[in-house]
Amino acid sequence: MSFQQAIYDEKNIYELSEKGKIGYSLPEPECPVPSIPDKLKRKTALGLPEGSEVEVVRHYTRLSQMNFGVDSGMYPLGSCTMKYNPKLNEQMANLDGFTGLHPYQREKTAQGAIQLIYELQGMLSEIAGMDETTLQPAAGAHSEFLGMLIVRNYFRNKGELDQRTNVLVPDSAHGTNPASAAMAGFNVIEIPSAEDGCVDLDALMAHLDQHTAAFMLTNPNTLGIFEKNILKIAEAVHDAGALLYYDGANLNAIMGKVRPGDMGFDIVHFNLHKTLSTPHGGGGPGGGAIAVKKKLADLLPVPMARLDTESGRYYMDYNIPHTIGKIRGYFGNFGVMVRAYAYIKVMGGNGLKEVSEMAVLNSNYMKHLILKETKGAGDYSMPFGYLRKHEFVLSGEGIKKDLGVPTKDLVKGLLDRGLHAPTIYFPHLVHEAMMIEPTETEDLDSMNAFVEALKEIRDQCERDPDSLKTAPINTASARVDEVQAARKPVLSWKMKE
Ligand SMILES: *Cc1c(COP(=O)(O)O)cnc(C)c1O
Repeated sequence: MSFQQAIYDEKNIYELSEKGKIGYSLPEPECPVPSIPDKLKRKTALGLPEGSEVEVVRHYTRLSQMNFGVDSGMYPLGSCTMKYNPKLNEQMANLDGFTGLHPYQREKTAQGAIQLIYELQGMLSEIAGMDETTLQPAAGAHSEFLGMLIVRNYFRNKGELDQRTNVLVPDSAHGTNPASAAMAGFNVIEIPSAEDGCVDLDALMAHLDQHTAAFMLTNPNTLGIFEKNILKIAEAVHDAGALLYYDGANLNAIMGKVRPGDMGFDIVHFNLHKTLSTPHGGGGPGGGAIAVKKKLADLLPVPMARLDTESGRYYMDYNIPHTIGKIRGYFGNFGVMVRAYAYIKVMGGNGLKEVSEMAVLNSNYMKHLILKETKGAGDYSMPFGYLRKHEFVLSGEGIKKDLGVPTKDLVKGLLDRGLHAPTIYFPHLVHEAMMIEPTETEDLDSMNAFVEALKEIRDQCERDPDSLKTAPINTASARVDEVQAARKPVLSWKMKE
């Protein structure tokens, strides 16, 4: 049975609004109400929508039925890791003791929260094989930016900043990598991949020199391939006096198996929302983290959670010798930390290892099934070798060439079948790319159903290629104008007006 979005002709909340409608009623106050001085009173209306409770509840319930999420079906968005988020973690983040906290509360009264941050810092250091971890960044790109600021300040303190102006990034990297390096003021140099999908070592060596500040690497990379030369690469980067940066947005293939710290990385970033089960996408809050080796720990942003072993008290430490300063209000996205903490505690070390094993097994199972089941003209194909870790990248180039259906139309057929599309057109080195990450939380039936849908769509391409030009037709929103949406996004009521 496949999921089907509800289709309503739903107005937005401002259009539904009617002046004077309210969603509450309070008794008349029994005590005298102090009058507010005129000069403090607001002169203009706020322009908020007005409606009754039942209208508002129905409106948002209908909107939720027009949506798609990992709670409704498989969401194999490669690199983004849309795994199922256990509800227990939501309950933990919703405990009164956490939701009622105020960031300006005295430390004495928030010991449990600081202890949680402290312990999570330690658990992430252990998972990554690093010495110290900060949980301040708001998400992955923010972590990368912080990482690059740490690189900058490290070389500034060594007096080498004027000389070390380049950051090297493979062509398979997530787009945020070069963007973060450029934002931090570095020149970005792209390193091509070799035929096996790994870093082209000759190209890397040709660019590694006294001008290199860092090499940013994702391992396994976005093709899902583990970089087999990683030890050699780490040695070469360090010999050049540069730092090695690990994009660990998605740690789903390696938790409990190998550690970036042991591979020779100096800085590691985490996306708590991807690997450690916080609902994300659609603009929900994420959580980042940066873990570093000892030589960089003095540069971390303030504050760090610490334990005073003498008194047994937890405290926020603002006294870090060469800190780059503050990068985020208060302490970071605390609710996301609670979910990550709960997830790690429930899974335990062996559980996390099993997550990685299942994620890799699922990905290889699906990849194998797709390649086996869809042989023929206009096939799905998989460039760059065969074995994969937690995700794999197919090419729809054959289908485009032989049957005339580009990948962007092809995956719309999935939406019509109640499934979410994979990531497409990324990484750029695969033509007509489809990047699929089933995650460890999908079972055989849902993976088989997804492959079945891909097969059906392939047949649909052969039978009636034009039908996919107008897909999806069974979803709450039909095909949107992607160019308009990207160039002229209408993001608020005011913009629409
Ligand atoms: C998602 C992702 C990022 C960016 O993380 P955000 O939280 O979306 O900013 C960086 N690198 C990789 C490999 C990713 O998958």
